[in-house]
Amino acid sequence: MPSKKEKYDCLVIGSGPGGSPFAWRLASKGMSVLMLEAGPRYDPYKSYALDEDDWELKGFPETKRIKYTTGKKQPLNTAYENLKSWNKASGKLNRTNERKYLKYHQVSGIGGTTLHFQGEAHRLNENAFRMKSLYGVAVDWPIGYKDLEPYYNEAEAILGVAGPDKVPGRPRSKPYPLKPHKLSYASGIIAKACGKKGIDLFPNSVAILSEPYRDAPPCNYCNGCVWGCPRKDKGSVDVTFIPLAEKTGTCEILDNAYVTRIKIENKGGKKIASGVVYFDRSGKEHFVGGDYIAVACGAVETPRLLLNSEIDVNGLVGKNFMETTFSETVAMHPERTDSYRGIPMDGIIWKWNTPDPKRGFSGGLRLFPTAGSALGPVNYSLRFFEGWGEDYVKEIEKWFGHAISVGGIAEFFPNKDTFVTLDPNVRDQFGSPVARIQSFLGEPELKTLNFISKKSKEILEASGAKEIVEEISSYDFFSATHVFGTCRMGNDEETSVVNSSQRVRGIPNLLVTDASVFPTSGGGEAPSLTIEALSLRAADLLLKDLKKG
Ligand SMILES: Cc1cc2nc3c(=O)[nH]c(=O)nc-3n(C[C@H](O)[C@H](O)[C@H](O)COP(=O)(O)OP(=O)(O)OC[C@H]3O[C@@H](n4cnc5c(N)ncnc54)[C@H](O)[C@@H]3O)c2cc1C
Ligand code: SF4
Repeated sequence: MPSKKEKYDCLVIGSGPGGSPFAWRLASKGMSVLMLEAGPRYDPYKSYALDEDDWELKGFPETKRIKYTTGKKQPLNTAYENLKSWNKASGKLNRTNERKYLKYHQVSGIGGTTLHFQGEAHRLNENAFRMKSLYGVAVDWPIGYKDLEPYYNEAEAILGVAGPDKVPGRPRSKPYPLKPHKLSYASGIIAKACGKKGIDLFPNSVAILSEPYRDAPPCNYCNGCVWGCPRKDKGSVDVTFIPLAEKTGTCEILDNAYVTRIKIENKGGKKIASGVVYFDRSGKEHFVGGDYIAVACGAVETPRLLLNSEIDVNGLVGKNFMETTFSETVAMHPERTDSYRGIPMDGIIWKWNTPDPKRGFSGGLRLFPTAGSALGPVNYSLRFFEGWGEDYVKEIEKWFGHAISVGGIAEFFPNKDTFVTLDPNVRDQFGSPVARIQSFLGEPELKTLNFISKKSKEILEASGAKEIVEEISSYDFFSATHVFGTCRMGNDEETSVVNSSQRVRGIPNLLVTDASVFPTSGGGEAPSLTIEALSLRAADLLLKDLKKG
């Protein structure tokens, strides 16, 4: 289906947390906005698998419309062999001596990857914006925590974030809109273990309703967030910013509209973006014009679209890619913990979130108790037990509901071997070169993974857990849920793709408003809230400039 008009005040490409807040804000001020989304529109009441018998075998209903390939594999550093992923059922999960590319976890649909996310809603630690000046590593952001604080408040109110009074490293000018969730029984066990070790476990701040809000009921603690929330309790973008954008009456949203090119024109010696080429669901090609264009396709697809449109800034588009430094340890607890009940991550340990080079590495991290995705019997049988026949079934029955897990996510520093480029040999269904991801872990990430693994095991041991049955780590698998950095934001023209207003250098009416602009990844914080805050701020700065004329 083509757009209703031939030209709009603004085109927004991608409808995730990077695109939708921006589109809403401009439309709420009367601008005509067209948001183009490659994926379909899902219906929370009908599209998800949680009420189906084989729910556990199904993930989020993916479209597989967006394809990518992967680059060179990193040889594994044998000094960190202890970090190899394994489980009791299968032994070592990667038996090679190279790091395997498992998946870039991304969802294509109205609402972007938040449709699949777990609802964590974190502000970045104030120090995370100043890694260079405070710790001498990576780069500083061109803006600070204070610039984002009002936007954090605003996004939290729209999502309906439930959180505690205080979160270390993140001063607040307003309380969270909703009271925190009570810890699940399993997280309570981990909280007690942390107490024994002098570690504070806080209620996590989550965009999951702890009381009625946004015309939705409170969460029923089914732990199914990654399948898509069938009750609209999880603050994914499709049930928060999108309805607001649609209510303005001036924001048109096109689903199944796949943008393959941004058209750049030369006007009086200056480059301007004049519109985009896209394919509709029937495969028909269209062109639509816009005075401003915001790209928000995620940190892999945004650089791909720019490069396919021959837009590059000092050879930096696609560089500085940052993935997810992640580790998780699952154990069986003698007590039945029922860890499958609750929200996926209701507690959090911020103790090591503010970087401290004395630990031997400079990045921050956070730990959390979780069910370790051990939610149903299929996972128990495939991952934690080996055997066959009646004894095998009895063993699973005996241990079902006893899994308990501690995981961690941490800083990822950009390095020269980690980037997104175009694949010269592979094209998608529309004839465009696909993105090729290459990602290597550096020494700081390996040290951090070691630290997380050690602390997770210590906490599990203090909880009374007996047998460790699985350890998963990004040491030997690329399996990225949080990705950033490929169109770095900065004040320095030589080292950044966009300026502090998120405008692409050399093409002032083109913006990037998604996770691609992060100069650093933060210390394991979940990124969506910061992406939304940045997107709202970029829209306000544009509106301010337009007002000035
Ligand atoms: C399993 C999982 C759990 C997660 N849990 C959390 C969590 O609890 N909290 C949190 O904050 N974050 C979480 N994340 C990460 C979070 O979802 C992402 O960081 C965030 O959605 C990224 O936002 P974005 O706008 O940059 O990109 P996306 O959300 O990926 O949105 C990009 C959109 O652009 C569209 N698009 C791409 N290319 C084109 C094109 N050429 N034309 C038109 N449209 C296009 C895509 O289809 C997509 O809809 C999780 C992610 C995963 C996978
Ligand atoms: S745990 Fe709550 S937010 Fe998550 S899917 Fe279930 S009802 Fe929705």
